[in-house]
Amino acid sequence: MADKYCSVENAKFLLHDVHGFEDILKFKRYEDFDKENVDLLIDSVKDLADKEYFPYFEEMDAKPAAYKDGEIWAHPQVKTIFEKSGDMGLTGATFDYDHGGMQLPFMANIASGYILTAANNAAVMYTGLTAGAAHLITSFGTQELIDKYVPNMLNGKWGGTMCLTEPQAGSSLSDITTTAYPQADGTYKIEGQKIFISSGDHPYTENIVHLTLARIEGAPAGTKGISLFVVPKMRIQEDGSLVSNDVKAVGDFQKLGQKGNATVHLAFGENKDSQGWLVGEENRGLKHMFQMMNGARIDVGLNGAAIASAAYFASLQYAQERPQGRRLNNSGRKDVSEGQTFIINHPDVRRMLFLQKAVSEGALSLVMEAGRLHDISHQSTDAKEKEEAHLLLELLTPIVKTYPSEMGRTSVDNGLQILGGYGFCTDFPLQQYYRDIRISALYEGTTGIQSLDLLGRKVTMQNGRAMMLLMGKIQETMKAASTYDEFKPYIKTLGGKLEQTQEILQHLLQYAMKGEHEKFLADANIFMEFFSTIVIGWQWLKMATVAKEALVTGNLVQPSEFYESKIHTMKFFYKYEMPKTAAAMEILKNGDFLTILEMEKELIM
Ligand SMILES: Cc1cc2nc3c(=O)[nH]c(=O)nc-3n(C[C@H](O)[C@H](O)[C@H](O)COP(=O)(O)OP(=O)(O)OC[C@H]3O[C@@H](n4cnc5c(N)ncnc54)[C@H](O)[C@@H]3O)c2cc1C
Repeated sequence: MADKYCSVENAKFLLHDVHGFEDILKFKRYEDFDKENVDLLIDSVKDLADKEYFPYFEEMDAKPAAYKDGEIWAHPQVKTIFEKSGDMGLTGATFDYDHGGMQLPFMANIASGYILTAANNAAVMYTGLTAGAAHLITSFGTQELIDKYVPNMLNGKWGGTMCLTEPQAGSSLSDITTTAYPQADGTYKIEGQKIFISSGDHPYTENIVHLTLARIEGAPAGTKGISLFVVPKMRIQEDGSLVSNDVKAVGDFQKLGQKGNATVHLAFGENKDSQGWLVGEENRGLKHMFQMMNGARIDVGLNGAAIASAAYFASLQYAQERPQGRRLNNSGRKDVSEGQTFIINHPDVRRMLFLQKAVSEGALSLVMEAGRLHDISHQSTDAKEKEEAHLLLELLTPIVKTYPSEMGRTSVDNGLQILGGYGFCTDFPLQQYYRDIRISALYEGTTGIQSLDLLGRKVTMQNGRAMMLLMGKIQETMKAASTYDEFKPYIKTLGGKLEQTQEILQHLLQYAMKGEHEKFLADANIFMEFFSTIVIGWQWLKMATVAKEALVTGNLVQPSEFYESKIHTMKFFYKYEMPKTAAAMEILKNGDFLTILEMEKELIM
């Protein structure tokens, strides 16, 4: 087991130095917080993760959640996770005081989530989904629903889930068939099947509150006929006691990774006795659910960044301890009279380690950027600032979900490679990180779906206004960086990439204007690769500029090596990652769509 799985120093650097947490603390909602008490909270989260999350990371994988004898079994530590997270107020950290929360800024919650997820990504899903489900109730539910469900969800007694997917309706939810039959008392009888439900069942909470999408009998077809319901596993009686609500786990999914989290097939109303309560307005369920899905997409990005970070520390430790071969001397020949060197001294191993560092820290910085935008868009009293933050967040969300998931996977893959044959073996955790991170690109909207969202909706919304705002923000970073001559080449590269982005968009938008939408969006995934790399290049220039300023002014919170490593990693990113956008650009500008749009039988042959 590796000694280190996350960097609290980096989380604090991003929060305070790079992303201006101080400005966020000025919002009225956060008046009870200051830098000191937030740092103390982060330290106590690390302590909790050290004691209750990380020690069970491998064991929860080795003893996966499973359906046995008609019940879901999960690792008993899940009970402790619910209890401790509830007791410390972490499950409901960002909720209103009125709802039993602590009104923690979203950005600080990201720092806390990073630590817990890096420690044990399967465990953190149980409470993360509970918070998401409770948030839907507080946002759209009646006071009665809030009072009935939310306190117990936040204090760790009850769990929560998000029930969208059905066998025939995954990426496209317009095809869901779970039905809600209206009853005389204003409630609904729910009937249908939901699959792939994370944390969907387990014996460790008294109740599980399923936020479920269903179609009210007779509702219009498609997404405009979907409503949202609270459907608890256990129904609350008048006297407060709990009885079964006819929601049954009928199977589970044995998975590649995240094995500690139970992924469940749920049957609602097999005995026609599953009662549901409408949340929000009839037929607006998908819109309500999207509120949770946007937050959940940031969480999935955080999942990717945190797993990639944990994998980095594991391979770094291995590379520092594993002797193998000899250094390449200046003449390019190995000197056999020398003793073995540690593999960290081989340039190729260093390249892979830097790739891991560049991706995981760049991704985490972007997630934190999203956290800041989330706080501003919810709390600012300046209407313009609020609206702009909202637009920027809308644009960045598919990237925040996708870059850490896709490139996080590549970075963990490189981490595994560093361990050689041992990377493939269960004695070391790299293979688990490799398996665990794979889901990030699949759930909460696959990479294909996120890419369509980015290019097809977000880039073009309000005539490209969000895109213009983002370009402005990137230019602000370039201006700040221009104080330092050392950064001039990187500013030039980033500026050139912004011009190329405009060029590509002009090229692609021609198809959209001609109504050739298939051609416009056919390579959306390649555009995601291209643009997300540029966005991370922006994050690295931002981090390096702050690090340089700290070194120049001597205003150092960490040892100087910490800041130097930021600058060095930025240079690595610009040498090894930014040029990859050139290949993507070549593909995006090539108007030959014959292969993917017209050739089907050739694929089948
Ligand atoms: C471990 C795990 C946990 C999950 N947890 C939950 C949960 O808690 N709650 C829940 O409701 N669901 C959950 N899911 C379901 C998950 O969100 C879906 O699997 C996902 O949305 C994809 O749906 P699908 O599997 O049906 O794939 P499909 O939708 O069939 O997609 C298959 C492929 O086709 C591509 N594709 C589909 N449509 C398009 C399109 N229009 N254009 C281009 N490409 C397209 C996709 O990108 C993908 O590559 C979970 C899944 C897993 C595996």
